[in-house]
Amino acid sequence: MVCGDALALGPGSLVSVLPDTHVGMAELRFHELGLDLRLVKAVADLGWEKPTLIQEKAIPLGMDGKDLLARARTGSGKTAAYAIPIIQGLLQDKMTLSEQAVRVLILVPTKELGHQVLQMVRQLTTYCARDIKIADISGQADISAQRPILMEKPDIVVGTPSRVLLHINQKTLCLRESLRALVIDEADLIFSFGFEEDLKNLLCQLPNIYQSYLMSATFNEEVKALKELVLHNPVILKLEESQLPDSSQLLQYHIRCEEEDKFLLLYTLLKLSLIRGKTIIFVNEVERSYRLKLFLEQFSIPSCVLNSELPVQSRCHIIAQFNQSCYDYIIASDEHVLGEKGKKRTGKKRKGKSEKGQDSEYGVSRGIDFHNVSTVINFDLPLSVDSYIHRAGRTARANNPGAALSFVASSELPMLQEIEEALGEGGSKGCVLRPYRFPTEDLEGFRYRCRVSCVWLRAV
Ligand code: AMP
Repeated sequence: MVCGDALALGPGSLVSVLPDTHVGMAELRFHELGLDLRLVKAVADLGWEKPTLIQEKAIPLGMDGKDLLARARTGSGKTAAYAIPIIQGLLQDKMTLSEQAVRVLILVPTKELGHQVLQMVRQLTTYCARDIKIADISGQADISAQRPILMEKPDIVVGTPSRVLLHINQKTLCLRESLRALVIDEADLIFSFGFEEDLKNLLCQLPNIYQSYLMSATFNEEVKALKELVLHNPVILKLEESQLPDSSQLLQYHIRCEEEDKFLLLYTLLKLSLIRGKTIIFVNEVERSYRLKLFLEQFSIPSCVLNSELPVQSRCHIIAQFNQSCYDYIIASDEHVLGEKGKKRTGKKRKGKSEKGQDSEYGVSRGIDFHNVSTVINFDLPLSVDSYIHRAGRTARANNPGAALSFVASSELPMLQEIEEALGEGGSKGCVLRPYRFPTEDLEGFRYRCRVSCVWLRAV
């Protein structure tokens, strides 16, 4: 039985007023945390002035060797919250240990997140890259191509549970002797993505003693069970959260629009420059994302598509290009993350490619750090409140403002009501997603052009 010191950052603390999607700032600075100067320099290069709140708490505890359970979402600075103490520990180990070995395992639910973690650790190890080697084995499909990478025994290995287990079983990876720290990132997703069995098998292959970090957006039953399995006397860090930033940072609107007019509405909003800046347009199906891309192309509006049918390298490349502002519009279908309403995938394996060629280790609305998104458009309203929150959470990150605009057809009204009820718990029931007002007669001016394009699209 594990009994942890609960360091819940509750009401009254600095953290309690901040939504967890917000990179809240702490009192201490990085150089005051006792970090290796190479780390402090790397952080300075990233332009980070101060640790976020989760980092301020987690870094000293991690450096102290404590097991940590942190409720933190993407946007809170959680990756560096575990990566910094881990790198610090490795740098210290290197002073006494000469043998090269895999000492840290970071488990992620999706390949995109694996890639993102890799990038972050690379940035943090800029000044000690020769001392600390990292490999991401979540992304590449070919196992044999990963063997030589693992033979070099990188200090940090990032991977999905299934891929890591595969390598352990093939004896290309052995952690039993050398592992000093385990991270399970987005732990709640690890379960809902069906990795439970692999994870349990994998844990049997680890040594008896190692430090663990469990990062999760929610503390559900599965995460509690995992806590019992991997954490020993953990400190629990809990950001008191509202689900999304408040209306001073994130504006949320809905606009009533029947299915046949959604294309016209989007075109009109873009044409009239009512939507500006980098925008993620979410749809519920892959096929629809291509249709929308073709539609926009008709009007010389370039966009890129992101979905589970694309190879992982392309997905990571598209996210990188979007982050570098090569495109303003990304059309994403988060069909896997959404799942079917009410359907829970826990315990059911969904690895590899489905018959439609969709990659089950794909995740867009959770965990991925799209930079400087000014607007999220729900072209299709998501099928669950959770998905709405994760989609809307792609904007208004760090200290930036943002807007989420949902197109709502009559058939989607019950879902809108569910979202309103879930988000309006603070007493503002029924008006969280305010009606978006703009002169509907403007639509008419563009209707003919759109109709021609839609007819063409139907013929494609
Ligand atoms: P994460 O929650 O780890 O996905 O991080 C979300 C975003 O916050 C990333 O773009 C990080 O680069 C950024 N970030 C992390 N820590 C800090 C910090 N201390 N100050 C400013 N930005 C940060």
